Amino acid sequence: MTDKIVIVGAGHAAGQVVATLRLKKFDGSICLIGEEAYLPYQRPPLSKKYLAGELPAERLHFKAPNFYDEPNIEVHLNTTIDRIDRAAKVVQSNDGLEFPYDKLVISLGAHARHIDLPGIELAGVHYLRTIPDVDRIREEFGPSRRLVIVGAGYIGLEVAAVAAQLGLDVTVVEMLDRVMSRVVSAQVSEFYQHEHADHGVKLLLSTGIKGFAGDGHVAAVDLADGTKIPADLVVIGIGVVPNTRLAADAGLEVSNGILVNDRCNTSDPDIYAVGDCTCHPNDLLGRQIRLESVHNALEQAKTAAANICGEDQRYAQVPWFWSDQYDLKLQIAGLSQDYDQTIIRGDPAERSFSCLYLNDGKLIAVDAINRPKDFMQSKKLIADHAVIDPALLADSDLELKDMV
Ligand code: ADP
Repeated sequence: MTDKIVIVGAGHAAGQVVATLRLKKFDGSICLIGEEAYLPYQRPPLSKKYLAGELPAERLHFKAPNFYDEPNIEVHLNTTIDRIDRAAKVVQSNDGLEFPYDKLVISLGAHARHIDLPGIELAGVHYLRTIPDVDRIREEFGPSRRLVIVGAGYIGLEVAAVAAQLGLDVTVVEMLDRVMSRVVSAQVSEFYQHEHADHGVKLLLSTGIKGFAGDGHVAAVDLADGTKIPADLVVIGIGVVPNTRLAADAGLEVSNGILVNDRCNTSDPDIYAVGDCTCHPNDLLGRQIRLESVHNALEQAKTAAANICGEDQRYAQVPWFWSDQYDLKLQIAGLSQDYDQTIIRGDPAERSFSCLYLNDGKLIAVDAINRPKDFMQSKKLIADHAVIDPALLADSDLELKDMV
């Protein structure tokens, strides 16, 4: 009998767990505990419209604050849980509060990967993961301010696009030889490199950094080759690390994320985990994965909540992601790592094209740039493991959905 559900971590996934429990008319108590000062909010706009000043903080809410004003919902913000006692079925906060559970959901997300280099403690050196992080960055924004970004992934490039449009002088330092190499093909990287250069962003590829220099406040970034780049502020976007410590300390299985099965159950039947902190099996892809994706957070949350309510739901979804840079919407479906062939549809020069990834003839992923139809249609084809003649795929006069 499940009377008490405790949700640790109050991000996007947690908000969806509450929403699904409400939808399913769960009538026990729901206790949502989060370390941040905010109710669940959407993180993707942080490096986009929120950073640009185009979206007020209230609009970041996942659900309006009164959504949680229910007699069976308790919310504890500014509260850090530092122990799960599985034997007693209780979680404990660092200031001694105890929250008993029948079922526990861990939705702790991930934190920005830190860099351990001299000068990292200087004022003006920022990570970007939370509302306060962006508020601090915004305070230092201003036309002609010299911004150095470390890392040319989603975060780094989205910040570069916003900053360039606001008139900052932007340099991006990336240790690998192309941008977004974790997620896109060389053709797509090259396209984005041109776009950023066209907007005045200086890209330093294959470039390492040694540290940050300044007297109290950052004034320069020291590159590995001895060059110093002047900087009024720095944003570091070198990836995220899943928050697994709490689970590992409690003896749950952890390996690149908290291990869960396709029901979002951890190695303890009374503990579920959802979102960026999990490593989960995906049948469609035939392997164990960890995703940094809103879609995954929401879908795992729905699955866990349904299973807690006594249903038997499995999680098997085609992953998808997006990134907004300038007027370019990049939409990615599937995971491209195992590709052996790429096909370009459309024309990069027209700023609307897709890169399709095949493995042994099978469509496994797509990067669609300003081509939402290709994105939507390939998502379905990826789920269906479609095998389509490459010559047809390349013909952008034909719609993908008409090819099977
Ligand atoms: P995020 O979500 O933070 O953007 P990604 O994994 O998409 O994370 O991108 C991080 C980028 O940072 C990658 O391109 C990676 O090569 C780059 N990177 C990682 N460590 C460093 C470093 N020390 N200096 C410069 N770039 C780095």
